[in-house]
Parts: sequence; structure tokens; C-alpha cells
Amino acid sequence: MAAHSHLAPEVGSDPPEGELRDSHGRRITDLRVSITDRCNYKCVYCRTGQHGAQYPELSAEDYLRLIRIFLSLGIEKVRLTGGEPLLRRDLPDIVAAIRAMHTRSDQSPEVAVTTNGHLMEDLAEPLKRAGLSRVTISMDAVDPAIFERITRIAGSFAAVVRGIEAAQRAALDPVKINCVLLRGFNDDQVESFATFARERNVVVRFIEFMPLEEDRLWTPQMVVPLTEIVERIHRVHPLVPLPATVAGETARRYGFTDGAGGEIGIIAPVTQAFCGACSRVRLTSDGKIRTCLFSHREHDLAGLARAGANDEELRAFILGVIQTKEARHHIGEPEFLKPSRSMVHIGG
Ligand code: SAM
Repeated sequence: MAAHSHLAPEVGSDPPEGELRDSHGRRITDLRVSITDRCNYKCVYCRTGQHGAQYPELSAEDYLRLIRIFLSLGIEKVRLTGGEPLLRRDLPDIVAAIRAMHTRSDQSPEVAVTTNGHLMEDLAEPLKRAGLSRVTISMDAVDPAIFERITRIAGSFAAVVRGIEAAQRAALDPVKINCVLLRGFNDDQVESFATFARERNVVVRFIEFMPLEEDRLWTPQMVVPLTEIVERIHRVHPLVPLPATVAGETARRYGFTDGAGGEIGIIAPVTQAFCGACSRVRLTSDGKIRTCLFSHREHDLAGLARAGANDEELRAFILGVIQTKEARHHIGEPEFLKPSRSMVHIGG
């Protein structure tokens, strides 16, 4: 495979002291694995509603082999995403198998899931038993009508709320809610989301809309910037900044000054990009490595495995690919080019 011979450093070379670093000196500790690009929602800002899955998915065994190799190189956290990861019936088995693996420092890796929560009511307990560390549930409105206009699925709001409650009962703490705000769609939900965070004792994280949709919808004007969100919430529920919980945290965190439960987080990849602290690498459902959401190049790790590469060869390939990780994205700049895959097919 051309990319292999071109990119791979000497077979068997190890990152120093158990660290996986890219050519910009960033430590790469987080692997996001899309285990399917099928989704049971058709969120208007993500999908056209015309296409289904576009890329194959691997067997659990194949993902697990690749994940084990990433862990041997210095990955510490694995996030399973999609598509909708809860659509895979073997998800609890995949979680349990990853938890049984080891990081380079001989710990059990953290395993998180990002889900729309629709199927969480029945899966929260099995996932907790399987050892799931954390869950992030996407929810773009607290008004049921607005929510269902976005997901285009009747009954989705009630299902997701039941999913959140089940995750809390299963002690998948803290439950994080991700909300993508779009001007003119759901930007009137900001203050109600703050109330939801307080009442339900959840972390609500607002994420700026990025140009990663199947359609051509994104304009800079649709992005609701971090500063506006914080100001608007602060007016109704005064906020106090909280320290980062981990180095390189992507979210700015805020608590409520009156000591109410819940927390607000803002993830601002567009107006306050955090590429300099990026610790992520992604594996698509068909087993290709993406070094950035906005990459134009993918690296066919699963193809190499299928062609018979042994673990050492796959490790060398990954090490070489990590060195090509982009310094930053170029959203909003004249030369910005949308990546060939949209979010649902990359794995958000
Ligand atoms: N189906 C799962 C879910 O809904 O969380 C996982 C996949 S979904 C692609 C992951 C996250 O990406 C969701 O929180 C979704 O809102 C977010 N997302 C999708 N398109 C986005 C975009 N263009 N900009 C920012 N976030 C986006």
C-alpha cells in the first residue's frame, strides 16, 4: 500500500516514554471510533434525509484489534460514536472488551459513548455493567416541538428525556448533554437549556456549528458564538467560570453562582479554535484514520489489516499517520474546503 511505505517510520519504533506525539508536539491521547455511520435521526443540520449509511462497518473483533494497537501506542481514552452507536447490538460487548484492555501505563482505558440517547432507556444499565465510564447525549432543544423539527422523528423528545433519566439512574455520571446551536433554528433555547441543566443536574455543553453537514447549509452567520451564549445565560442565571478538569479541555466550563446543580460548557471550535490543544485522532466506521475532522486525507488502517499486516506493521503505520496531523483547521478562511465526509460519516 503506497501510503504505508511512504508514511511508516521504521517498523517497531516506539514513542518515547509511552507518549504518542504528533509533529506539532501535541500529545495524542483520545481515540474516537465511529462504529457505524447508520443513524436513526435525520437532524436537519447534519443530514439531508436522502442518504442512509454510506460506508461499511467493521466487525467488533476488527475494531477491537485496531483499538488495542492504538492503546499500545499511548491512547488513554476511547470514545465510541457514529452514526448512532446504540444501533449496534454488540455495543455493550465492545465496551466491556475495551475496558478489559490496558493503556501503556497499565490502566483500564476510559470508554465514553456519544449518542442521541433514543435507545438509552434500555441500554443504560447494560452499558454501565459493561464498564462504560461516561455518556454524552446530544439534544438540540428542550422544547419538544423544536426538538422534533430538528430530528425529524416523532416521539424523539420523550425518548431522549427517558434516556437521560435512565443514564442518571444507572449512575453514568456526569451525564453530559451536547447542544449544537444554529441561528434561526434553536438559538432561542439557550436560557431554557440553562434551566434544564440546573433542574436536572446535568452538564449542558453548547457546541458551535461547524461546516460538516451533508447539505450545504453552513454560513458564519448561523454560528452562535461563545460570548453571546455566556452573556445570555449570565443575565438569567449568573455564571462563574470553573477550572478545566483536564489539560487541553475543549470546553469552557461555568457553574451557577447560586450553587445550583448542573453546569454549562461551551465548545467553540469556530470562534475560539482549540486546535493547539487537540489530543484526538479518529477512526471511521470503515477503519480509516482521520487526523482532523477537516482532513482531506484518510489513511486506510483496516485495509492494511485486511491485506495481512501484522500488529507491528499497523503500529508503524499509525505512528507515521500521526505525524501528518494538521496544525489546525481553516474554517472561515478563504481557502477553506469542506472535507469529503460529513460529520455523521466521520464520527462526531
Ligand atoms: N448519533 C450520535 C449523537 O447524536 O450524538 C453520535 C454522532 S453525532 C454526529 C455527534 C455529535 O456531533 C452530535 O452531538 C451532533 O450534534 C454533533 N454534530 C453533528 N453535525 C455537527 C456540525 N455540523 N457541527 C457541530 N456539531 C455537529
